[in-house]
Amino acid sequence: MTSIREIKGVGDKTADNLEKLNILTTEDMLNFFPLRYETFEPPVSLSEEKVGELCAIKGKIAPSSITQHRKGRLHLTNFSVMADGGRLKVTVFNMPYLSKVLSKKDTCILKGVLKHDSYGFSMAQPMVYDVDDYMETVGNLKPIYRTVKGLGNATLHKIACKVIDGYDFKNDYLTDDELKRYSLISMPEAVRNMHNPSSMDDYLKARRRIVFQEFVDYILPGKLEGARKKRVFSKPMIEVAHTKRLIESLQFELTGAQAKTFEEISADMTSGYCMNRLIQGDVGSGKTIIAYLALLMNSCNGYQGAMMAPTEVLAKQHFEGLKFISEMFPDVFRPILLLGSMTVKQKKEAYELILSGEANVIIGTHAIFQDKVIYKELTLIITDEQHRFGVRQRKLLSEKGEQVHVLVMSATPIPRTLSMIMYAGLSVSVMDELPAMRKPIKNALVDEKYRNKLNEFIRKEVDASHQVYIICPMIEDNDDSELENVVDHAEQLKEIMPESYRIAYLFSKMDADKKNKIMEDFVSGNTDILVSTTVIEVGVNVPNATLMVIENAERFGLSTLHQLRGRVGRSDLQSYCVLVTDKKDKKTTERMNILCKNNNGFRIADEDMRLRGPGDIFGIRQSGDFDFMIADIYNDKDILISASEYTDRMIENKDTEVGRKLLDSIGTMCIKAVDFKSI
Ligand code: ADP
Ligand code: MG
Repeated sequence: MTSIREIKGVGDKTADNLEKLNILTTEDMLNFFPLRYETFEPPVSLSEEKVGELCAIKGKIAPSSITQHRKGRLHLTNFSVMADGGRLKVTVFNMPYLSKVLSKKDTCILKGVLKHDSYGFSMAQPMVYDVDDYMETVGNLKPIYRTVKGLGNATLHKIACKVIDGYDFKNDYLTDDELKRYSLISMPEAVRNMHNPSSMDDYLKARRRIVFQEFVDYILPGKLEGARKKRVFSKPMIEVAHTKRLIESLQFELTGAQAKTFEEISADMTSGYCMNRLIQGDVGSGKTIIAYLALLMNSCNGYQGAMMAPTEVLAKQHFEGLKFISEMFPDVFRPILLLGSMTVKQKKEAYELILSGEANVIIGTHAIFQDKVIYKELTLIITDEQHRFGVRQRKLLSEKGEQVHVLVMSATPIPRTLSMIMYAGLSVSVMDELPAMRKPIKNALVDEKYRNKLNEFIRKEVDASHQVYIICPMIEDNDDSELENVVDHAEQLKEIMPESYRIAYLFSKMDADKKNKIMEDFVSGNTDILVSTTVIEVGVNVPNATLMVIENAERFGLSTLHQLRGRVGRSDLQSYCVLVTDKKDKKTTERMNILCKNNNGFRIADEDMRLRGPGDIFGIRQSGDFDFMIADIYNDKDILISASEYTDRMIENKDTEVGRKLLDSIGTMCIKAVDFKSI
């Protein structure tokens, strides 16, 4: 591996900035694929259909319409153009010289987000092009990378090109026959074209290859590990009466799905072989109590169990939730919390208790699997919200104990056809039933006109001592806009809501301590309204929260929306989800309606798959659900099926010399891959 600092032209300052993007080596740079591509589409006519979209409009400038004035610190230039379909009003900030340029032009092309209100069509701050210049670029793709302050898109692209030029690509591990069979191009060509596509077709081919690779990387370890686990003996275990007593002591009755899932887990754990099971549950289906039951059974048998959550807030919540069990069975159930943020002294104490076996239920973040943590006899590992963890972290877990039962929990329902591939090697328990006493969440789809009513509704919920979530989308490729979005929204609310309301905001780039504090305040009821990006998505349980408002709902995938909505409706209080969007096109409306009409995640997932046509690659990704850079299980379903078939063939041949060579060479390809050799 070559350090990125060795690339000519990358100075210390640039290298430091690259590090902020996790680019340390030339391989990292190759793997740092553009977030999206700016396309230069032919100009379109003004129409309601295009409102809210980025589009190019060709228009004749009305010279008499050009005006300039100041508004505070802003210098504004206004003008109108006559375009196909009517008049377009344009506002441009802080470009005082523009009016001169415009007055010399006859026609121009404006590229920006089209808006429409009672005054007609408008665009704010569009790019202004000469017609000929623009038409020359039509059809081109310009890669757009994620950037940080001080390191812009153009520089990143230049560095990527430089790295590609000097990179010694390994031979592809796929044979020519295989490339042909799966309609793939070679990896070096794919990487090159991802960073530098000369046409849409080029890009699509490159993307197909990278997606294939991502899927192989994801599926293969699971399949290999699954096959191995089936043959590993576990420590002897028996069913215990404690779990029954715990179930009887609960204030609620287990749902049918919960009871069945726990039976499956008990059967696995007493089978004599290691469990390797996934609970694929809908949000709010009550996975946590099942995990607690498994932990209890495990400790009653005299062993240690660990449960890992993706965030400290969630780990703490799990730990608090366990307390009633240790009060019931203080001798056999001895939980401990271990977090990265604890002091050295606290950690040391925890390590000792774990080593001696005094603590036998260990709850925490990935801190619980650091090398320093030595278990006395670990036999059960549970991960909550498993889709949040990378492949590496998951593998680390299974290395921690030789004979461990593994239980992973995921709140991302996916259609059965896909789950058979994605979770190959795992036994799957499906929890698709919500507790009976829940009132179904009431959903509403509204536009900006509804704003006043919405604010009233928020007031009503807060005045009833309930809590409210408001989600704003995050804009990925601009360093600051995420922050502005959330902060602006929170500030606006503070202005219009009663002063006594406690309003907080949260976004991913905040530092961890602050984030935790804000989340904890909300969990403990000290905040009334939380404005946030999707960072709150992670499994928190605040039963008192009854209203979820999602701004610009059209920007989220259905599964994300369903997850977000799952933060409310977690008690017997009536809960509401309001989707706010101004987009009225058929596709958006259809998607939003699926959500409004369904509260069942499995049904939504099926509908989601049905809606996506093949090649819908610019559609919304289910980002975050799986750890993919660019692949999407719905949009790329056909590639997923090919990749699965390929991994089966690999495994069939894994004991032949060719097969071993293949397995060896995969981890050495230039796109991020799991280290298969150690599996
Ligand atoms: P998730 O599956 O999303 O992780 P949780 O395990 O956090 O859901 O459960 C959500 C809420 O439902 C919790 O407050 C939990 O105590 C409660 N709960 C779990 N099972 C039941 C049940 N069978 N009946 C009623 N409430 C339940
Ligand atoms: Mg949960």
